Amino acid sequence: MSRHITIIGAGLVGLATAFELTELDPECSVSILDPAPLSGASHHAAGMLAPAAEMQYQQDALVPLMRQSALWYPSLVRRVALAAHSDPDDPYVTGFRRDGTYVVAADSADRVHLAETRDFQESFGMKATQVTVRQLRKAEPALSPNLSGAVHIPGDHQIDPRVFGDLIIGALKNRGVEIVKRSATPFDVNPDDVTIVANGLGAPEFFPYLQLRPVWGDVLRLRVPAELDPLVTSVIRGFVRDRPVYVVPRIDGGLVLGATSREDGRGRPLVGGALDLMRDADTICPGIRECTIDEITAGARPGTPDDLPYIGIDDGTGAVVSTGYFRHGILLTALGARVGAALATAGREATADESGSVDAQTRATDSDSLADEHGSLEKRLVKGNELLARADDDDAPELTLDDILASTDIHRDV
Ligand SMILES: Cc1cc2nc3c(=O)[nH]c(=O)nc-3n(C[C@H](O)[C@H](O)[C@H](O)COP(=O)(O)OP(=O)(O)OC[C@H]3O[C@@H](n4cnc5c(N)ncnc54)[C@H](O)[C@@H]3O)c2cc1C
Repeated sequence: MSRHITIIGAGLVGLATAFELTELDPECSVSILDPAPLSGASHHAAGMLAPAAEMQYQQDALVPLMRQSALWYPSLVRRVALAAHSDPDDPYVTGFRRDGTYVVAADSADRVHLAETRDFQESFGMKATQVTVRQLRKAEPALSPNLSGAVHIPGDHQIDPRVFGDLIIGALKNRGVEIVKRSATPFDVNPDDVTIVANGLGAPEFFPYLQLRPVWGDVLRLRVPAELDPLVTSVIRGFVRDRPVYVVPRIDGGLVLGATSREDGRGRPLVGGALDLMRDADTICPGIRECTIDEITAGARPGTPDDLPYIGIDDGTGAVVSTGYFRHGILLTALGARVGAALATAGREATADESGSVDAQTRATDSDSLADEHGSLEKRLVKGNELLARADDDDAPELTLDDILASTDIHRDV
């Protein structure tokens, strides 16, 4: 009997999870509930896919997850584009650009910070090469000659979450997935059915034990005048008087300037935040003065106490929980979608083959036995720690979906 799976939340995570479900089990019917698809954090995000540049101290457990997700991204983009009957190599239709990242320092103190960050990245085996400002400006002539240092990270890329989100919606339509524009309530989590709760900051309404908090970010969207386009081609991240700023160029002549980080609960963009971003971006890339402003918005990242996402099965209802992707949710979408889809199809043996496509061998199961299996499972949440040793070892083969599922941890203090 073919099963039905309901996904609550059509952010990038919910949409990509629906897509992986259709890959894993073409027979299952999937519907997504969301009053305003792609209106949450995914709408505001810059979409940097930056396992190296986004590394922060004391986030060791997150590193293997970010790195694995980055490895899975090209496969996800390709499969979605093909399912949407689009060209997977056209960045205009996928929003995916592989032009790498430069991290730059404004003054000598920022240069020290940059050097420390590079050492930290290299200690995890990430490729981050120091370049002179001259080399930097040869690649990106619009950057300021007054910068004090730069590092090139060739493996950190970007995707436009709005473009990619729309592409996934197109792919899902082709596969018969229904998107129902209404708000879900806890009554939609039916233990006899399979539900995936992927509604970002809204998830505690369903499971109050989830400790999520909104971490607001102001972000600007600019447009480069035709005569200056492209202003930059790589993602440019900077430290300016120890404050982070980034300039992310879109293929259509747009630029995303971001982002502040504040927990003051103010859901509208702040003038002070926008001013700081514009000043700091002007310091590293004066050409932004010639751009026009398309948008200034503020979005809320779904923050967790330890910066790790919540991916697991709720023991009370059997629902799959997939939220708390915090600052890295666009990057972690490739991983979260695969793990979420695999957990939802518990009762199957899911493996990731070398090409990155998901292969599943179905064990006979109907909705009753599935509910039993879910009922017997405890809440499982992904922990990166067990993956760390593998990720640190350069000779280790790429992690598989099975490795990640095996590392889900039954207990986490919530
Ligand atoms: C300013 C900013 C910049 C960022 N930059 C980056 C970046 O460069 N790289 C990166 O990797 N990450 C970035 N992030 C983080 C990233 O955006 C998030 O982690 C990610 O988008 C989370 O995706 P999601 O699908 O879980 O949640 P969301 O995108 O928030 O989607 C949740 C969805 O659930 C829906 N919903 C809520 N309640 C209900 C309900 N009761 N019923 C039905 N639907 C419901 C909402 O309408 C929404 O569409 C950034 C975030 C911000 C705010």
